Amino acid sequence: MKIYTCLDGEIQKICEREVEKQLRREKGKRKRQISLVLIDQSNGKVKALIGGRSGEVPQTGGNRAIDYTRNPGVMLTPLSVWTPALDTAGMTLGTVQDDVAYSYTENGKTRTTKDEKEYQGLVTTRESVMKRLQSTAVQTMDSFGIQTGYDYLKKFGISSLIEKQEDVEGNVISDLSLSLAVGNMVDGVTNLDLTAAYAALANEGKSVSPIFYTKLVDQTGNILFKNERKQSQILRKSTAWLMTNVLREYLESGDGSDAALGMDKLAAAGYGGSSAGHKDQWFTGYTPFYTAGIWSGYDDEKRISSEISCEALWKRIMTRIHEVKKIEKGSFKIPDDIVAYDICTKCGGLAVEGLCEEAPGGSAVQREYFVNGSQPVQNCDCHVRYRVCKKSGRLATEKCPEDQVEEKVYLIKEETGKTKDSPYVLSSKLQKSKCSLHK
Ligand SMILES: [Zn+2]
Ligand SMILES: [Zn+2]
Ligand SMILES: [Zn+2]
Repeated sequence: MKIYTCLDGEIQKICEREVEKQLRREKGKRKRQISLVLIDQSNGKVKALIGGRSGEVPQTGGNRAIDYTRNPGVMLTPLSVWTPALDTAGMTLGTVQDDVAYSYTENGKTRTTKDEKEYQGLVTTRESVMKRLQSTAVQTMDSFGIQTGYDYLKKFGISSLIEKQEDVEGNVISDLSLSLAVGNMVDGVTNLDLTAAYAALANEGKSVSPIFYTKLVDQTGNILFKNERKQSQILRKSTAWLMTNVLREYLESGDGSDAALGMDKLAAAGYGGSSAGHKDQWFTGYTPFYTAGIWSGYDDEKRISSEISCEALWKRIMTRIHEVKKIEKGSFKIPDDIVAYDICTKCGGLAVEGLCEEAPGGSAVQREYFVNGSQPVQNCDCHVRYRVCKKSGRLATEKCPEDQVEEKVYLIKEETGKTKDSPYVLSSKLQKSKCSLHK
């Protein structure tokens, strides 16, 4: 019998060499592990697979990349929150939310999102993805419903979701919870499933079912089994492109920039981060040709003390692979129904020339992409310009000398907690007070 494997010897060797090189640099008592999955998203073929240090299987057997689940942390948010937000919940990349401490009810208990050092205030969906914000992610899932996020993960092929289970003490545990918004799962995900899920974004929104071999053939040449998987459109093409557009920015100039490929004409997108308690590091990214996911952590699930750059490792591997395959260029094809507008990032309205770019704290103008019909139609209504007397710090009157008057742009917002916006918000006190020094 002959098995026609999907593994590509050339690609597998490159991955092995780079992973081993990285692991050799790792010192310390506990042995750091790396797993890797590389898929051709056009057909689901797994071209490379690494389950850890060479020759070392986990104590309990199996392969770290396909048999072991780990918590995805922020890696899950684009799949469980932002994709459904764009695909079905009526949000756009320009929808504005307030990143501020957020309380919600779960299992009858009131919880508050993890306290951040500093909340960002008003942010667009794009900024929430770029900055991996937890509060807006939880708010979003809370508004469109946990079940929707859960269902999208199922469509993406996440096979380790737990709908309902009893633990040893008889408590009901389930992934149908808002923790799904930030990737705290009961069991976690396998690297294989997570990579295949991102591969669907790379594959214009069509599902990717990973396969390891294409067929089984007996000695006489009869095909015993053909391993074919049908792809189905699990989200709109435009959603996949919009998510890819943000993940491109994340990889090219955001926190993932260590993964930026030095190839001008080859587009790449990706996302990275760690799980709660910093037990897992992830980076998963794709070009128009391949999707590769890297996980790193310890078998005993202890906190990671020394950082490995999964991004830099991803970059080395993907650069080399595209080189040997002689792929120099490729882009993610923009769907026909995508349009671009300049918006105000503090309210999501159309940017007003001469106003929004002078927003306090830096320009609030951003070019954003929309599915045609979902773009804003109203102008910005959150920025106002006032003439303020420098001497009194109050609204200027005709009596104030011109050289004492400055024009300032303020943000109209009701602050429910301290955020980065707080210093720029127009106070009702200022609105009501006129300069009385100059008479
Ligand atoms: Zn504005
Ligand atoms: Zn505005
Ligand atoms: Zn004055």
